[in-house]
Amino acid sequence: MLSVDTLIPAPADYAAARVGSGEYPIPPYAKYLAGVKICLNPGHGGDARKRAFKRGPSGVREAEMNLRVAKYLRSFLERVGAVVLVTREDDVELSYEQRARIATDWGADLFVSIHHNAIDNKPQVNYTTVWYHADVDYRPSNLDLARYLNGGLQERLALPQYATVPLKSDQLMYENGFAVLLNATVTAALSESAFYTNPDEEQRLRQPAYNLREAHGLFLGLARYAAAGLPRAALMTPAGGIARAGETLVFELDDGLRGRKAWGHERTMILRDSIAVRISGRPAAYEFVDDGERYELRVRLPSDLDPGAYHVALQFQNMNKNSVLNPNFEIDVR
Ligand SMILES: [Zn+2]
Repeated sequence: MLSVDTLIPAPADYAAARVGSGEYPIPPYAKYLAGVKICLNPGHGGDARKRAFKRGPSGVREAEMNLRVAKYLRSFLERVGAVVLVTREDDVELSYEQRARIATDWGADLFVSIHHNAIDNKPQVNYTTVWYHADVDYRPSNLDLARYLNGGLQERLALPQYATVPLKSDQLMYENGFAVLLNATVTAALSESAFYTNPDEEQRLRQPAYNLREAHGLFLGLARYAAAGLPRAALMTPAGGIARAGETLVFELDDGLRGRKAWGHERTMILRDSIAVRISGRPAAYEFVDDGERYELRVRLPSDLDPGAYHVALQFQNMNKNSVLNPNFEIDVR
């Protein structure tokens, strides 16, 4: 089984002609995806020559379903103004490191790897899982992304089996996790939407309408995530991250919601008890200031800090429990 083009063909405008129609509606809150930079990474590719590699029982290739779902998802996202980059447009091979680097170099806010699952000798198995890297504390925003993607997939695919706890650590599979998630420097998750080793599911995964449904589920998840606010942090002083011992670092926090100027926007929408700061792994004291317009997080560097490179990690959650997308900062103490 070395065949390619194992999906049921669809016209080039298949998704574009259906996005926003009654069966694939765009909810009003999807407008909050506008301007969000999302890198989509369809797994595998360029591997058709490998006998039986990542194929279902009748030979349908995972690489092809991953790619079509990614392109269909792009159709939804671009319709509402999200900025999308897909790591591969064709059936080509990319290393896991290359894929992660594409997302980093482009400055993605979110990095979504799209896969479908397989299991040996258990054709009856078929459920949705979404994977995050390492431990739950590694990067809490990864859990947010995974959770919203899972919610959208559960709703739209609605597979009859449920994975008990669908969010999974990639370290359950490999000691170091999935290489693509290990190398990701931005908020990242990996969906395994269904099992192509299930013969019935394999046939569904060949169909353009089913691929579009899955893309719609991922889209709804991303739209709900964005609507709940994507928190961010920015280092304001010192500029360039070059500091002296004893200096105060000033971060501006964005809860992802206040900028909408909704009724009550001047009220604090960051959970104070969710704030944490670590300097190269050690908890650090901070001051949190909210003047009703801007949030500031002030972190005083210890006055006896040796010169060198330090890693400053922030955490906070907005009122919808979404964690900061970009928690990591590098400081050079001179
Ligand atoms: Zn895969």
